[in-house]
Amino acid sequence: MDLFDLSGKVAVVTGGNGGIGLGMARGLAGAGAAIVVAGRDAKKSAAAVETLSAAGARVIAVQVDVRNKASCQAMIDTATKAFGRLDILVNNAGTNIRKQPQDYSLEEWHTVIDTNLSSAFLCCQAAYPLMVKVGGGKIINIGSMMSIFGAPFAGPYGASKGGIVQLTRSLAAAWAKDNIQLNAVLPGWIDTELTRDARQQVSGLHDRVAARTPAGRWGNPDDLAGVAVFLASRASDFVTGTAIPVDGGYSVQGV
Ligand code: NDP
Repeated sequence: MDLFDLSGKVAVVTGGNGGIGLGMARGLAGAGAAIVVAGRDAKKSAAAVETLSAAGARVIAVQVDVRNKASCQAMIDTATKAFGRLDILVNNAGTNIRKQPQDYSLEEWHTVIDTNLSSAFLCCQAAYPLMVKVGGGKIINIGSMMSIFGAPFAGPYGASKGGIVQLTRSLAAAWAKDNIQLNAVLPGWIDTELTRDARQQVSGLHDRVAARTPAGRWGNPDDLAGVAVFLASRASDFVTGTAIPVDGGYSVQGV
């Protein structure tokens, strides 16, 4: 399908070396995009490059700490140097520290906000001139069910993920004139390293999520591949500023 064809496009995926990021990278690569896998852990990134290139993708790894402005800029520069252009940015890198609100230090607050929210802003700023240069672009920001709901153990995480939705709307409004579409994806509960920790820390979480999700199961990273291709492709050229749940119905079921 031409509408979803990403041949000749270049995508940077932060946190693309595992979990949801790798699931989306697999989707984008399958549709023909060259992929830049960006993360801190070089070993994980090398393994992701191996997986994606074994499936036929053009792919490189770039080391980045998304909390750092210079590092985000260097990531975008390396990507464009390697592949000559930038069309797609997926702001997926994220973290969580689970505590009761009264127990966070300011440093912990900043760790979560900087990794999940300020990072997306910095990467968008770095990507903007390159997208303008090629006549447009696609930015996908990863939110969460915590963009909508609260949880007792998710003060800074919920603030960061709520912020992602509003950041997406504002930048979408600003950059529509440049033919850049920004959308947020709100994953439900997906089986990754991040939620493996959560299942250890929050008792009964695994069964509660399965019971609370109309689809009756946890998601897996490949459940995010289709929405990534849609939002990165010509198929979504008139879709901007939205927040799309990919959650097996979690966000629409009241009880
Ligand atoms: P993972 O822990 O598997 O992935 C997180 C990724 O973020 C890793 O690839 C990690 O790379 C990267 N990362 C973390 N901190 C930094 C940093 N400072 N600089 C660069 N990269 C960083 O978890 P998920 O795949 O689950 O999470 C991906 C995104 O999806 C996050 O934004 C998360 O909040 C969101 N999400 C997850 C849900 C779930 O149920 N799993 C539900 C809703 C949203 P490295 O290890 O190399 O640093």
